[in-house]
Formats: sequence, C-alpha cells, structure tokens
Amino acid sequence: MQDFGKRKVRETVGDEKENDLEQLIKKLEESSALFHTVFEQAPVGIAVGHNEKWIFDPTSSLPGINSAFEKILCRSKKELADISWMDITHPDDLQADLVMFQKLKSGEIDSYSMEKRFIHPDGSDIWVRMTVVPLKLENDIFAQMAGLDGDEAPDETGIRSKDFKHICILEDITKRKIIEKELRESERSKSVLLSNLPGMSYRYSYGNGRTMEFVSEGSFRLTGYRPECLIKDRDIGYDDLILEQYRQARWDEWNKVLSRREPFRLEYEIATADGSRKWVYETGQGVYDDDGRVEALEGIVIDITGRKQRELEINRLKNHDYLTGLNNRRYFVELLSDEIMRDPVVKRAVLLIYLRHYNTVNLIYGYPYGESIVKELANELQHHVRDNILLFKISADRFCFYVRDYEESNELICLCDLIRESFNKSVYFKTIGGGIGIYEIERDVIDPEVILKCAAIAASNQNNTLEPEYTFFSKEMEARLLRKAMIKEEIAVSTSRMSHECLSLAFQPIVSLDGAIAGFEALSRYESENLGCISPEEFIPIAEETQLIIPLGEMIIDKACAFLKEIESLGYNDIKLYINISIIQLLRDSFPADIYRIVKEKGVNPSNLCLEITESVFSSNFKAVNERLQQFRELGFSIALDDFGAGYSSLSRERELNVNYLKLDKHFIDDLTSANKLTIVGDIISMAHKLGHYVIAEGVENEVQKDRLCGYSCDYMQGFLFSQPLVDTAALEFLKEWKKK
Ligand code: C2E
Ligand code: MG
Ligand code: MG
Repeated sequence: MQDFGKRKVRETVGDEKENDLEQLIKKLEESSALFHTVFEQAPVGIAVGHNEKWIFDPTSSLPGINSAFEKILCRSKKELADISWMDITHPDDLQADLVMFQKLKSGEIDSYSMEKRFIHPDGSDIWVRMTVVPLKLENDIFAQMAGLDGDEAPDETGIRSKDFKHICILEDITKRKIIEKELRESERSKSVLLSNLPGMSYRYSYGNGRTMEFVSEGSFRLTGYRPECLIKDRDIGYDDLILEQYRQARWDEWNKVLSRREPFRLEYEIATADGSRKWVYETGQGVYDDDGRVEALEGIVIDITGRKQRELEINRLKNHDYLTGLNNRRYFVELLSDEIMRDPVVKRAVLLIYLRHYNTVNLIYGYPYGESIVKELANELQHHVRDNILLFKISADRFCFYVRDYEESNELICLCDLIRESFNKSVYFKTIGGGIGIYEIERDVIDPEVILKCAAIAASNQNNTLEPEYTFFSKEMEARLLRKAMIKEEIAVSTSRMSHECLSLAFQPIVSLDGAIAGFEALSRYESENLGCISPEEFIPIAEETQLIIPLGEMIIDKACAFLKEIESLGYNDIKLYINISIIQLLRDSFPADIYRIVKEKGVNPSNLCLEITESVFSSNFKAVNERLQQFRELGFSIALDDFGAGYSSLSRERELNVNYLKLDKHFIDDLTSANKLTIVGDIISMAHKLGHYVIAEGVENEVQKDRLCGYSCDYMQGFLFSQPLVDTAALEFLKEWKKK
C-alpha cells in the first residue's frame, strides 16, 4: 500500500527534483502514519463502504475498517469485508436504512444518521448510532482496492452505482438502549401500578410550607378531588382531607421516620369531597439532598376502607359476646388494664354474676332455651348501666359489672339489690339462679384476670340458692379455696398411685348398755404432705365433689377390713366395725359387689361390718336408697343411720327404713346435760325400739349424759367419755384392757 502511494505521488509530481520528491514523500508518509493512527485509535467505529460492502485491505495504509468498528460489531475486519452490511442489519431496521441509503446514493441527501440494530454473531442486538456520508475521491484508491476501473457508467440515480462509496461511522449505544428499555419497562409498570392503584401517588415539597407538587390521577377516585385541585393546595390541601384526630399524629410520625431515614407507614381516615369517610393507608419516604436535608416526601395513599371495615368488624366480634352483644371478657381485660395503667388511684370494683344453674337448664331444656333466658337477662341487666357502671358478658354463664369511681361499698350493695330485683322479674331468671361476687379492687392488684378470679371466688362462696346472694371477696375465702384445690390435688395423686401412706384410720369404741365394747367406728384421717393432718369433715366432701371418694372409699374399706381381721383373729367374734359410706359410693351399681369382694379377700365376717350412712342420702331417692340398703342386709351387712336428727328428717318414714341402728346425733346428747331442757331423746329411743332399731348415742362426753341415756335404755354409746378415736394398735390394746375389767 505504501509503495502504491509513492508511485502515485511520483506520477503526480512528474519532473520535480529528486530531493523535493523525497521530502514530499516523507511528509506524505508522516501524514499517512498520522491518519492511520487517528483512524485506528478513533473511539467511534469507522469503515469505508462500497455499496453493500465494507472495504478492507490489511496491506494498505488506509485499511478501510478500524478497530473500534470491528469491536462494536463483534466481528473481525476480514469477516466484515466478506459480508454485506445488509446481512447483519436487524430485519426490522433494514428497510429504513435502505431507504436512506438510496437517498444518499442518489444525492437527495448529504448524509444520514439513524439508530439501528446490527446482529451480533450470538444473535443478540447491537444498537448503534450510525452516520453515513458519501465518500468522493478524485483518485479513488478505494475503487482500485475494490477492483473497479473507475470508468463505469452512472446508474439511473446519476451515480455510478458500482462506484458508490461511503463512510459509515458507528457509535455503540447498546448499553444506553438497554437502560432506555428498562426505564420504559419501569415507567410502564409504574403507570400500570398507578392506574390500577386504589389510591394515588404524590410528592410533597418539604420546605416552609408542605404542599403537594405532584398528585397522580388516582386522587379523583380516592378523594373526589382532581389532582390539580390538590396540587399546591389550589382548592384544598390534602391535610385538610385528613380527619382532625389523625392530622397531628401523621406529621409526628413523618417527623419521626424522617429523622431516622425510615419508611413512613400509617393508617388513618380522610373525608372525601362528597363528605364520606374513607380509611387509607399511606406509605412513603423522604427524598434527601446531598447534604442529607429532606427535599421532598414521596409516597402513595391507598383506599383500605373495605379491609378496615372487615378488620373493625372482626374486632367488634372479638370484643363482643355473640349472644347478647355485650362487651366480652377480652374487652374487659383490655379496658381494665388500660384504665388501671392510666389512673391507678380511682376506686374500682367488679361484681361478677354467676348463673348457677345455667348448665342444668341447658341440659334439661336445651341450649336455645338457656340462651334465650340469658339474652333476656342481659337486656334486663343493661338497665343498670351508667357512665361509671359497665356491663360485660365474660363467659357463657357469667356477667360482670365493672364499677369505677364510686365512693362507698354501700353503692355496690345498692347495685346488688338492683340486680336481685332484675332476677326477680322473671321466674325463668330465678330458675337459672345466680350469685354475685364482689371484689373491691385493691391498689396493688393490676391484673384483670386476677381481679375476675377474686370476684369469682366470692361468687362461688355461696349457698346454692335461687335468689342471688352477694358476697364480698376476702383473703380468707381465697385461702380456703386454695387449700381446697391443694387437697383435691393431693387426693387425686395419692388415689391414682394407690398410695395408702397419707390415709389412715382411727377407731373409736362403741360401748353397749351393759358396759361391754360392742364395736368400733372407723374414722378416716388424711396426713397431707403440705397441709398436715386434715379432718374428714374437710377432705371427705372434697373427695365426694370430685368423685375421688370412690377409690378413696375402697382404700378405707380395705384398711377397715384389715383391722377387723385382726380383731377376729384375736378371737373377738362379736365386735362390729362401723364404716362411714358416702352416698356416691352407696349408689354405685358395682358397690355391693366391690365391698363383698374386699370382705371375702380379707376373710372377715360380713355380719361384723356395719355401713354407716347419713340420713341425707334419702333426700335424693328414698325408694332406691332403701332398696339398696336391703340388698346389703341380704349380703349380711348391718346398716346404721348416722347423725340421726341432724338435718333431713326421716323420722316420718322411720318405719320403712331398712336400717339396724339409729345413731342419735350429738346435739340431742348435748341437750341431756342441761337439767331444765326438755328433751325428746327418750321418746326417740323408745320409738326406735318399737320399730325394731337399736340406738347408738353419739358424742357422749360426760357421766350425766351416760346416766340419762342408760335411763332411756339407749343400746349403745360412743364418745370421748369412753375413748377418743385411736390408732389401730391403741384400739386393740384398749379392747384387750377393757375386756379384762
Ligand atoms: P361421724 O361419722 O358422725 O363421726 C363421729 C365424729 O364425731 C368423729 O369426728 C368423731 O371423732 C367425733 N366424736 C366422737 N366422739 C365425740 C365426742 O364425744 N365429742 C365430740 N365433740 N366429737 C366426737 P371425725 O372423725 O372428725 O369425723 C367427722 C365426720 O367425718 C364423721 O362423722 C363422718 O361423717 C365423716 N367421716 C369420717 N371418716 C369417714 C369415712 O371414712 N368415710 C366417710 N364417708 N365419712 C367419714
Ligand atoms: Mg359415723
Ligand atoms: Mg355421726
């Protein structure tokens, strides 16, 4: 290429001197080298084209295609020279390119520029900004490079088509195009989002005045105001739409999050142009300048009315009793915690109304019936609600009045009287029955659940009356209840393990009229791990309540029979052992078989066993109980009616009672001590004798009582006068000693 240039120059200069020529050649070589460097190093792609091809000659000082060109199109210069630019032009851009190219070729335009795509060898797009200008050379070295003779006829455009040369300049804009595409995508997503948003987006200027400088179209649907009405507060400021109670809180929240550079999130209500209210959720963030100052606030406000209403409804349901519509326990707990926190000094009390027979009524008449009464009762009780007296339904069978800011306990009693009046309004309310537990909340008690518990303890500490009574809570009540729970648990544990250690029996002698020991009464003792010795009068009712009396009773019978066995094995065959039996044991179908089994196992004589039952057992079902007693008698056992005359009077039906012994209650015996007091003891004894029963006097403590009882021919006596209840070994000793006398 260099030789070719020199020759040309020599031809041009013709007859000039050799020296001058050499200098000229040198200059030409220098400028040619400079051009070559500039061409090669240019940051844009440059190629000389001839019609649909690019020209490339590696041997020439003007190679036709520079390095940037090949780099942009990702093909070597050689490859580029071998193909037509049309082949690697993206089909979608080809037509436009050809049109422009034809115009250029025809001389209609001087140059053209366009953004177009070439095809990368891997098939992807190469975006370029392409400028094409015609290349007109007087001595066309490129024509020779392309192998043309330069004398061809012009085509219809006036330019010899084969001879059309141009320079193609490329600037790679692929990256920009990708960014543009992403931007377009994100703009599109944003506009899709905004147009589908059930709300609006905004930008607040954050300077002296905070006004919105941009509001999206959605504002109309959300607020009823077009964006231009809100922008710069033209008609109304967005702040004015926010309900007053939220306005300050919203800016407080904004200020808080801005100082921490955190996102803003808040739910509040706005009033729309037509006056309706909407719940909205606003989320946004601050826009900061380079110095970290807040420039603007940007965010969106979305309509959440539907969701909020559902939420509020759920909350309403959560805080209300479905049946009566009254606030429920959950709400009570929340309210009370809140109030106590805010003002711990105010005098407060809780009146808990326990519907004592609600469950029984449901069982007998069905739940709809029970519920309808409770609903009516709720309406009735609501009449007593005042500003400082609130009513709650805290469970299926419990109402509760919360009284705050009262002065005297008497006010609570007055409320109880009103409640009682309400109960008296309908016989149905009376059927359900109720008890009122009052707890005047102490200053240090802040847990609402504890407060309710105290009121419930007070309510449970009542007799089983239909007319509601009221009871004030006391610490002793709580201690009793706690003790009861502990006993219950201990009995449950020891019976489940069948461990007999805690349970023992004491035996109290029963002496006959002639002074002989006729028998012993077995009296249970419970030695608690935590509470020490517990009297049967305390633990037996608890065991009965929990049905634990059944396993416990079996343990008692077992121990009693073991003692009887010892007596029998000492040769005493006429000593009776009296065992106390509870109604729950007695009425169990399996009880006769169970007791008979134990007796057989121990090998004792059933006729030496006497079952003591209290006369109250007849109150449930006289006939059934009496038949059961007969069954025992047929098995060989005797029956004693304990505490006779103490409560339920079976005297009227004494004739029919299937019992062998009447145990005269201690209070009759106590009467015998006072000389002046009229007593019916003698009459009872003689009547019992006439009906074929033996009489045992209980609780004989002195000689006077003994003498008088002897005078009435009382068959047997039992009491401290003869002996305290004794442990088994002492009882046997006592028996042996007594016999010796
Ligand atoms: P209970 O069957 O009437 O027993 C007589 C109670 O009077 C016993 O009290 C006895 O210790 C007491 N006592 C005896 N003589 C005198 C006396 O002269 N003066 C006084 N003040 N009291 C006297 P304890 O042992 O406390 O039993 C109380 C009640 O517990 C028994 O009354 C009985 O109803 C029940 N009980 C005791 N053990 C059992 C048992 O194993 N099973 C069942 N179901 N009940 C039992
Ligand atoms: Mg007894
Ligand atoms: Mg008794």
